[in-house]
Amino acid sequence: MPTRREFLTQIAASAALTSAPVEALQSPTPAAQTTAAPRKSGIVQTVLGPIEASKLGFTLPHEHICVSSPGFWQAWPEFFGGRANFIRKVVDKLKAAKNEGVDTIVDVTPLDIGRDIRLLAEVSRQSGVHIVACTGHWLAPSLSMNARTAQELADFFVLEIERGIEDTGIKPGIIKVATDQEGVTPFLEKALRAAALASKATGIPVTTHTLAAARIGEKQADIFESEGLDPAMVCLGHCDDTDDMSYLTGLLKRGYTLGMDHMTWGLRNTIDSKILSWQQRAQCVKKLIEAGFGNQLFLSNDWYFGVSIAPTGTMDASEKNNPDGLLFNTRKTIPYLKELGVTDQQIRTITRDKPSAVPRLRLICWPKAAGVIAEPRVNLSRTTFRTSRPSCFAFISHPATHSIRVPCTFPVSKRPPISFLLYLLTLRHIQPRYNASFTLLTHSNHQNYSCGSGEKRS
Ligand SMILES: [Zn+2]
Repeated sequence: MPTRREFLTQIAASAALTSAPVEALQSPTPAAQTTAAPRKSGIVQTVLGPIEASKLGFTLPHEHICVSSPGFWQAWPEFFGGRANFIRKVVDKLKAAKNEGVDTIVDVTPLDIGRDIRLLAEVSRQSGVHIVACTGHWLAPSLSMNARTAQELADFFVLEIERGIEDTGIKPGIIKVATDQEGVTPFLEKALRAAALASKATGIPVTTHTLAAARIGEKQADIFESEGLDPAMVCLGHCDDTDDMSYLTGLLKRGYTLGMDHMTWGLRNTIDSKILSWQQRAQCVKKLIEAGFGNQLFLSNDWYFGVSIAPTGTMDASEKNNPDGLLFNTRKTIPYLKELGVTDQQIRTITRDKPSAVPRLRLICWPKAAGVIAEPRVNLSRTTFRTSRPSCFAFISHPATHSIRVPCTFPVSKRPPISFLLYLLTLRHIQPRYNASFTLLTHSNHQNYSCGSGEKRS
């Protein structure tokens, strides 16, 4: 008698060979992703545990608590005035930000620029500001990371997403990758491919650092698409460094979200006039909203409270240049956008609705016993698998039409019933209509899946 895994592998194999239509389904129409209204969906992992995406509130999707190097905090906390002092300073500033309406920040500081997950958890706990941490990789690989393959890097990202960061159990909510003036080096290409693989495997979105002057966003997009990653899962960062509308709208039309998230860098225009001022950046935001892309923009500061990768004194100089710190957008950019005629609702869309509506293809709690995961790709931008003992529920729906909904419930302790077999066939059937590929994989090497509520099952 076949084991359950063998059984399901056979089903998957036969589904791949079968073209039996499931006519009960309405025909989906092609996605109109650039115009679909943001929809709140999913659970987001914060450093204090999972929360409903709808609870994110006013969100700054590209910030840093501290930009450093791996091990630097442990070796030389005195550089930052000591850990307790630094935490006190950050908590004060985060509390002030919360008082002025900032609910959530996404800390896009991966391992190689000194991510300190316990520090993030502590300042979040004391300030009440939600912090979403990241896995992924920035521009500075250690020898150990440099020697890894794309698949190995993906495995590491997935490990952090599923197991948690280090031994804290704190899970990242986003995958950060970066490309800058050096272009797509062999290592950075591996990291980009790994981000795509890990995002597809886990449903965690991707956010990037780009150099707009070199049209790096396009190079990243090409790599993501070659790996079959849905552009709706990706925010290409630092796009406000350019006002080249052909570059920006080209990426938007491909389905990407653009991070207009370098706003405080506009203050450097007083030193270097080639840098766009923050007002020019805001004008560009307005133009993109007017062009109908208000659902595909993120607004952030790219602020930090400590930095050791730049000469000593950089933090003081930055604070002098931007006394508003994390509140720069709240106090300067948003009022200016309103002056330009951007409506409250349009601002709400980019600061609240959009961050909570990033598609999250969540593999919440697929029972290990089922031995199968479905790997959704391209356009299928909302797939949820849920289990709660003793039954498994899975459905898939399309963001534009909501026309595909295939519930399937079966007791995890028993062999899946015919409805589950139909579900597998359905995935197979809808796949060509979306120009998407669906792969059903046997899954044997992970002991636990994280659940929406944060519990673990094995
Ligand atoms: Zn940044």
